[in-house]
Amino acid sequence: MEQEKLILDEISQSSEKKAEKIGKRTFILIAMIVVGAASAFIGYSYYENQLLANATTHLLEHYNSNYVIQNLQGTVVNTWVSWNLLQGQVLHVSIVNDANLPDDKINAVKNAILSNETITVDNSLLHEGPSGTSSTRYKGWEGALADLQRSPTKFFIPQTFAISEESNGAGDIVITLTNDENPDGLSGFTKSISDGNQILKSKITIYDASQLSSLQLGAITRHEFGHALGLAHSTDPSDLMHATIRTDYPYISGCDIDAIKGLYSGDERSQVICQ
Ligand SMILES: [Zn+2]
Repeated sequence: MEQEKLILDEISQSSEKKAEKIGKRTFILIAMIVVGAASAFIGYSYYENQLLANATTHLLEHYNSNYVIQNLQGTVVNTWVSWNLLQGQVLHVSIVNDANLPDDKINAVKNAILSNETITVDNSLLHEGPSGTSSTRYKGWEGALADLQRSPTKFFIPQTFAISEESNGAGDIVITLTNDENPDGLSGFTKSISDGNQILKSKITIYDASQLSSLQLGAITRHEFGHALGLAHSTDPSDLMHATIRTDYPYISGCDIDAIKGLYSGDERSQVICQ
């Protein structure tokens, strides 16, 4: 009997050890999978960012933008302006395709306004912080402005845009794509008509449009649309709203969103100041 018990004890001990071993193995296997997946993800994000950086660097180097605000008498005014919409009002945007751009290029213009996609960029690539910390940038204005609904501002921030392709120039914001060259060498120009501090209409012109890639068209539209919403230029060269787009990541930043929030809260300042 006693011997039998000893044998039984031994058997149960060894199976416990076995179970322990299997448990350890499973743990190591799971850990390996997790580490593998994490490094694949980090590697892929880095690769994706590098691809984007390579695609935009140098291509936008000579891109210049300007904007002007005029009153109803046609006089240039130097003040802050914003849309003064009813709560929930939709801004109508029309694209006038004088350059006969194909659909994929028109979609790049539309996405710069409507997309709610984001991109996560390592701050070290933006020269804005240590590696390992990251910032979110938005590919489209509708996505960037959607989060602002939570805290109401003095003036309602335009958050929904309806885009149509009408050649008659109707719409609150009109984007004209032309093959003309701008005499001052500008790629993009935005003229807003205002009454007091209220924008009545914004007209964006994108020059030499057939020469632009989808990526460039998207970046220029994103920048000019910022003007159409009332933003001036940014002091920060790494920002979308800098007078010349120098950043490899021409997407809407938290700094641009803060500037919009300030503008529609009645801050008499439209310059984008990034801290
Ligand atoms: Zn500009």
